[in-house]
Amino acid sequence: MSYLVMARRWRPQQFSDVVGQDHVTQTLQQAIKRGRVAHAYIFTGPRGVGKTTSARLLAKAVNCTDLQTSSLGLPEPCNKCHQCLDIGAAYSLDVIEIDGASNNRVEDVRNLRENIKFAPSALAKKVYIIDEVHMLSTAAFNALLKTLEEPPDHAMFIFATTEIHKVPATVLSRCQRFDFKRISTREIRNHIETIVKGDKITVDDTAMVAIAVKAEGALRDALSILDQLVAYQGDEPITGDIVRQALGLIDTDLFFAATDLAATGRVHLAIELADMLAGGGHDPREFLHGFQRHLMNLLFIRAGGKPEELDIAESFYEKYISSSTMHTDEDFLRMADWASQAEDLLRDALDPQLRLELFLVKIARMDRAVDIGLLLQSLGAEPESYTAEEVRGPVSKAKVESPAPAPVNEPAAAIKVKKDTETAKPDSTDAAENDVTKGPDEPEEPDEPDTPDDPPPPNDPAPTATPPTPDKDDSPPAKGPESDSPENEPQLTLMELRERWEEFCDNAHAMRASLGSTLQAGAPISLNNGSLEITWSDDESLWRDKARKNLPIIEKAFEKTFGTKKRVSVIAGNIPKGAAPLIQKTQSEQNKEELTLVLEDRPVWKHLVERLDLKLKD
Ligand SMILES: [Zn+2]
Repeated sequence: MSYLVMARRWRPQQFSDVVGQDHVTQTLQQAIKRGRVAHAYIFTGPRGVGKTTSARLLAKAVNCTDLQTSSLGLPEPCNKCHQCLDIGAAYSLDVIEIDGASNNRVEDVRNLRENIKFAPSALAKKVYIIDEVHMLSTAAFNALLKTLEEPPDHAMFIFATTEIHKVPATVLSRCQRFDFKRISTREIRNHIETIVKGDKITVDDTAMVAIAVKAEGALRDALSILDQLVAYQGDEPITGDIVRQALGLIDTDLFFAATDLAATGRVHLAIELADMLAGGGHDPREFLHGFQRHLMNLLFIRAGGKPEELDIAESFYEKYISSSTMHTDEDFLRMADWASQAEDLLRDALDPQLRLELFLVKIARMDRAVDIGLLLQSLGAEPESYTAEEVRGPVSKAKVESPAPAPVNEPAAAIKVKKDTETAKPDSTDAAENDVTKGPDEPEEPDEPDTPDDPPPPNDPAPTATPPTPDKDDSPPAKGPESDSPENEPQLTLMELRERWEEFCDNAHAMRASLGSTLQAGAPISLNNGSLEITWSDDESLWRDKARKNLPIIEKAFEKTFGTKKRVSVIAGNIPKGAAPLIQKTQSEQNKEELTLVLEDRPVWKHLVERLDLKLKD
């Protein structure tokens, strides 16, 4: 006898064997028990959840001559009488299965109408099972209506569909409707366990969970996957690794690696992780989607949920519990938000891999933004301070995926300050309180000039730079001879450069693919009339070398982005943390001016500088 696939070999022979649809099967059994079987049913639900199987069981049960009683006291087909055996083997002429997709014409329904008049040849009831009934044409549906309303006593209809909304209301109103649900991962996993025990196959728990998750609620899919794996493995045990390899699934450890990134803050690990994913042939979209699920699991555990209730293998329980304590709810939510934004952006991305790299780099840099938020809190600067954008200033490189990330998850974004900070006395909280409008519900109004997406055109005096430079306005001739800007245009500041760093990276990427992520990992240290200095973390000398070899391209990308020429140089030394380069490292007059500009623009920094009484070293 030829091989029968598992889904057929293990097809339920009784209502109680149907997995995860008790609400349907028990109602049907009750109807049979009370002799109240309707003449038309419609079963709806996702694919592979047991609709057709239940239809056949119902056909058996209404025709069985020796109904049995289950442990719940409900009727079950005997599976021994002629009727049951014929229907089970699909030999019966009176159980007619029609594929709605290929028999959707009005002529097909007319044939059905002719044939339904004849009494069943061997069974008590003629049962018409029409699969994918939503595929019938409108004319076919109309031709069916009359028969459906008053079929002969010897006939009944069972429709199955995955798209109930395409079935006309006139048809629906003539049927009893049953909604089949997606089967839970746990139920699928347990069913797989029953099957592998029955078939004497060795499959470990991780593998069973991985198959069940992949099946996405469809038991038939799970069994097809299992079949495929058994064919692939022969008598060898099926492990989680085998399942991942065969199905191209992403190793759960890689998701943990991504959440670890935020704790370690090591950018080069982000790039390595992206490489590993690319090397494994994983679609960035799939990773981002899975990562959101992973974060959801972590949040669930943080909220006091038990790992047993999640769709995860037992071997990961401990890891989920310990990982859930690494970050706050807000951080996990923020990562999820970024992942979702990155997923959206992927749709139009020319280079999805780069998007993924940037996303992971952003995750790796996340802690810095948090540090500043915490710092503010510890300073008691609560008087309601600043927009997320203002707080994140120095980390604008982290604004990788979206220029205006949804601020809801920013701890510091719940509080907002009026624009004119001059009126707020930094040392008087009372004064500040009068000055601020707070409340997390208040919609964020992004200031146009602050949006990196929308940089001021070169000829437009940037409004952010105007107020703090009255001195400069008095002495326009002071501008350096190298300045290629129009008279009234302020020079490019380090802050503007940082805000548009991503655009710069994108332009560099367009010129040479690897330069995008190289620059992304770096940080601009100083910007003079003629030159720009960039550095990387000490442990990222590879990037530094790569940048050194590509200086002409970087300069070209710079000119393209900012419309002005700069000599770019790569300097040694670590990236100073947060605002450090501006406060500690800038020594020249130029940098002092720049600092003033920056501080006017960034009330958070200004506040910090005042609070900590920071001074510039000369
Ligand atoms: Zn029977």
